[in-house]
Amino acid sequence: MRDGYDVLVVGAGPAGLAAAAAAAGHGARVGLIDAQAGAGGQVWRREVARTGPALARRGIAAALGHPGVAWLPQTQVVGAEAGALLVEDPQGGRWLGYRALVLAAGARELLLPFPGWTLPGVTGAGGLQALAKQGWPLRGCRVVIAGSGPLLLAAAVTARRHGAELLGVYEQAGGEHLRRFARGLWRWPGKAAQAAWMRARLAGVPYRCGSVVRRASGEARVQAVEVDGPHGLQRIACDLLAVGYGLLPNVELARLLGCALRQSGAHPCVDTDSRQRTSVEGIYAAGELCGIGGRDSARLEGAIAGHAAAGDDAGAARLQRPRRHARRFAERLDRHFALDPRVRALAEADTVICRCEDVPLSALDGHADARSARLATRCGMGACQGRICGGALAELGRFPRDGSRPPLFPARLSTLAADPVSFRDP
Ligand SMILES: Cc1cc2nc3c(=O)[nH]c(=O)nc-3n(C[C@H](O)[C@H](O)[C@H](O)COP(=O)(O)OP(=O)(O)OC[C@H]3O[C@@H](n4cnc5c(N)ncnc54)[C@H](O)[C@@H]3O)c2cc1C
Repeated sequence: MRDGYDVLVVGAGPAGLAAAAAAAGHGARVGLIDAQAGAGGQVWRREVARTGPALARRGIAAALGHPGVAWLPQTQVVGAEAGALLVEDPQGGRWLGYRALVLAAGARELLLPFPGWTLPGVTGAGGLQALAKQGWPLRGCRVVIAGSGPLLLAAAVTARRHGAELLGVYEQAGGEHLRRFARGLWRWPGKAAQAAWMRARLAGVPYRCGSVVRRASGEARVQAVEVDGPHGLQRIACDLLAVGYGLLPNVELARLLGCALRQSGAHPCVDTDSRQRTSVEGIYAAGELCGIGGRDSARLEGAIAGHAAAGDDAGAARLQRPRRHARRFAERLDRHFALDPRVRALAEADTVICRCEDVPLSALDGHADARSARLATRCGMGACQGRICGGALAELGRFPRDGSRPPLFPARLSTLAADPVSFRDP
């Protein structure tokens, strides 16, 4: 038996929450799905023993508190067919039907392999932030944060709040790029205020531009990192290293549903029109899925998608101007935090590329595409289904990620056998 909704929203981050609230505001019966136990997505991930910011609390309450929204936490989409999604929650698998679907599945971190990146104690920058928010102890740990983009500062603020001793934030973009980026921030006063707030919280922490982590070393876990900066190589003893090179969109479900994608740099994102309509009738997409743009454009695009999915074109039209303004910020981010070619040359022949299946870079030589590499080496066939190594290999210019196949995530056999037959209104 299927549950059915007028509008089904996948992802309860800023985009999905805004979509659910907007669609429910027009009287639609909305289902809001997220794999996580709490709503808020990446930026508003709930922190143990701490209430979230007011904007997060308002965004979550507007969606989850609406009587027209059915909140389905710990529910992961693992498959799809026209008009229905196969989901799995702790109780089991089932199909959910929809008249309109809003995809707001967000993004994940881009991790680029370098010697030592698989040592215990090495994480992504957002990964360290998420671990700290879930209560992983950082007090007294000596932490190095590196990679690229504003997420480094956000992760550093969280780590410091949790008692970490921050040894430095190492940004790969050059100083001149960052100064030009900062000079243009006055057009987005909210972002300028956020940047100033984070810098104030990081007073005394070295922030070094044009700097790349070349190697992590240690016996059983990371003990030191080697940073290549404008003044040469520097060795830093540390307990934890967090490295992230920005974000890449989670397009797997959209691709499975046949939505057209477009390239944004080395990575695909979902192509939409100004009403967030994808190329597939009745399917909308919003937020980071449509190109990395940050929280504000995610909220606006989510609201546009929610209005449009519920048939209110005027509501969607009203938000076009602020959306364009928010997207221009994203274009600046792309330009000024563009990756230095050094970053793509860090992996050595024996550096593990696919962590799930232990495949080194040299094993991929001679393979023209991801399929050939997968068949010969199992690269991308592990639990993450190529979400980490696929993004890295695309960025390294080896081969682009290829198609999505169900199940999108490891699922129980009983879920895959769930009967996609009859349909029940909730
Ligand atoms: C690790 C990480 C940390 C970040 N921290 C910050 C920060 O501190 N500050 C900041 O400004 N920005 C941060 N960002 C950027 C952030 O992604 C965006 O600014 C904002 O959260 C985007 O909103 P969104 O709704 O598009 O996507 P998200 O917030 O990413 O929400 C997407 C949601 O979809 C759910 N989902 C995805 N696929 C499925 C599926 N198949 N089934 C069910 N649910 C699914 C996910 O669980 C997630 O909750 C972070 C990003 C990452 C990856």
